[in-house]
Amino acid sequence: MKRKPNVLIIYTGGTIGMIKDPKSGQLKSFDFKHLYKHVPEINRLYVAITTISFEEPIDSSDMSPNGWIQMAQTVFDNYEKYDGFVILHGSDTMAFSASALSFMLQGLRKPIIFTGSQLPIGTIRTDGKENLITAIEIAADTSEDGQAIVQEVAVYFEYSLYRGNRSSKISANQFEAFASPNYAELAKAGVTIEYNYPKLFRTQLTELKFSGTLSNQVGLLKIFPGFSAQIYASLFDIKSTKAIVLETFGSGNAPGNFEFRNFIRAYIKEGGIVLNTTQCSSGSVNQGKYETSSFFSEVGVISGNDITTEAAITKLMYLLGTETNTDSISELLQMNLCGEITELERSVKK
Ligand code: ASP
Repeated sequence: MKRKPNVLIIYTGGTIGMIKDPKSGQLKSFDFKHLYKHVPEINRLYVAITTISFEEPIDSSDMSPNGWIQMAQTVFDNYEKYDGFVILHGSDTMAFSASALSFMLQGLRKPIIFTGSQLPIGTIRTDGKENLITAIEIAADTSEDGQAIVQEVAVYFEYSLYRGNRSSKISANQFEAFASPNYAELAKAGVTIEYNYPKLFRTQLTELKFSGTLSNQVGLLKIFPGFSAQIYASLFDIKSTKAIVLETFGSGNAPGNFEFRNFIRAYIKEGGIVLNTTQCSSGSVNQGKYETSSFFSEVGVISGNDITTEAAITKLMYLLGTETNTDSISELLQMNLCGEITELERSVKK
């Protein structure tokens, strides 16, 4: 008989485990025991489950780099003991956490599956049960040679498995709350779980590397027609912001605003890093396709290609926390570290 797989569930909070405060009617985080009581089915899975909980389960709006470090450290410390990991997390910032962990834990050969729900587990129409049960099954799944099928950080929600650093929350009220518009789904759960084998990530590294240093000196600027660059002057201060993610129009375009361009030029000259991403939910940046984006290439703005905002921000937090040299950071930004971008021909050689 096949050995019973071991899965570690890390409970951080989120709607899945929340209960309604009888006085205010608001949803509040609650402990894992409550959640477990509502899903007795998980005891029938052929999986040995262990759980660890955040001391204070949180709404994921309160998630922070410290929370990411806590999750990544827990996986790292328990990596040899378990076949897979499930992280129960609020859906609001799940894509950020999944992206962050993909950079902080490189060289994975086991699955880390994030899941949560739109309705609390104690409600009749909850989506939490199916999400939790299937996430555990995926975390425990191995191929015939005994290797884990999924060997990366992924998000499981409403019958779909997405690469973590390609995913975004796309709906505040549909059960289908996530999508990964620039990357195919890793699996579809129907009667059986159908894996999209060619799309699964495989690391080139020989061992798991944990990086627990993250910088929060990263800014985000979403442009809009008529925006005043002056309002954002303090963002371009290299003393407080080491890197800026720009969310630009279409394939990476921005107005030829003189002041905006001057801010960017001066900021890069002082050693700042600017990464150009698109506001569109799918497609990629193509600097130089239009006159309105060629300025970016001229002054050294890096094309974010088809990266999500969540992955762009967390990749920069990780790179600024681990690298000191701006040129290496720029080079690594253009490289596909763990499946976060479709690597095109790059200006910088590997
Ligand atoms: N506010 C909740 C959270 O992110 C929403 C959810 O879990 O779906 O923690």
